[in-house]
Amino acid sequence: MKTNFIENALNLFFPPACGMCGQISASYICEYCYEYLKTRAKNRLDSYDDKYFSKHFWIFEYKDEIREKIIDYKFNDKSYLYRTFLEIILNNEQAIKYIQSFDIIIPVPIHKKRLKTRGYNQCELISKSLCKQIDNVVYRNDLIIKVNNIKPQSTLTKIERAENIIGAYEISKPEILRDRKILLIDDIYTTGSTVNECSKILSETNCETIGVFSLAKD
Ligand SMILES: [Zn+2]
Repeated sequence: MKTNFIENALNLFFPPACGMCGQISASYICEYCYEYLKTRAKNRLDSYDDKYFSKHFWIFEYKDEIREKIIDYKFNDKSYLYRTFLEIILNNEQAIKYIQSFDIIIPVPIHKKRLKTRGYNQCELISKSLCKQIDNVVYRNDLIIKVNNIKPQSTLTKIERAENIIGAYEISKPEILRDRKILLIDDIYTTGSTVNECSKILSETNCETIGVFSLAKD
């Protein structure tokens, strides 16, 4: 792991608080919450042959405190929680090993209008910082573009989600993706229709493999 001098210096003056319980802590997750969450981690690798991606690694079931924190993160403006999620992922050897088996990491994009109202793409914050800490994986948020600002998937049923997402994304610079192992990162995996639609257009670029990583699965 790379250490960051400026970050260490800042921590002296503004010690981090645990994103889970709010206590001042040596990092963005305290030892107590870290140990507790370790007992909740499922660390599952699911394989698929009926989707455009072949595997999906996820850490938690989308419930209880993890669900609460992801909702805070996505919908209640608590963008700082990305540091806590980042530390959870970085300390998870299985997750890191999986992520390292890819060449290019792409956060699931949000439409620029939504970006403007929310102020941040929650997947970008996590993916970008992850790539800074993991050698040999490249972060790219410019290869899949969300061209249609569709209805939020979270408000729809499974069938509506699958229809809503069709045609929502486009690939830019397909030549970069050729023969590469691509990892799509999303925060929650629900029906998989979003990552499957992104994978569908990725698969048209002759990339080698497509995998998915999410913090939680619903
Ligand atoms: Zn804590």
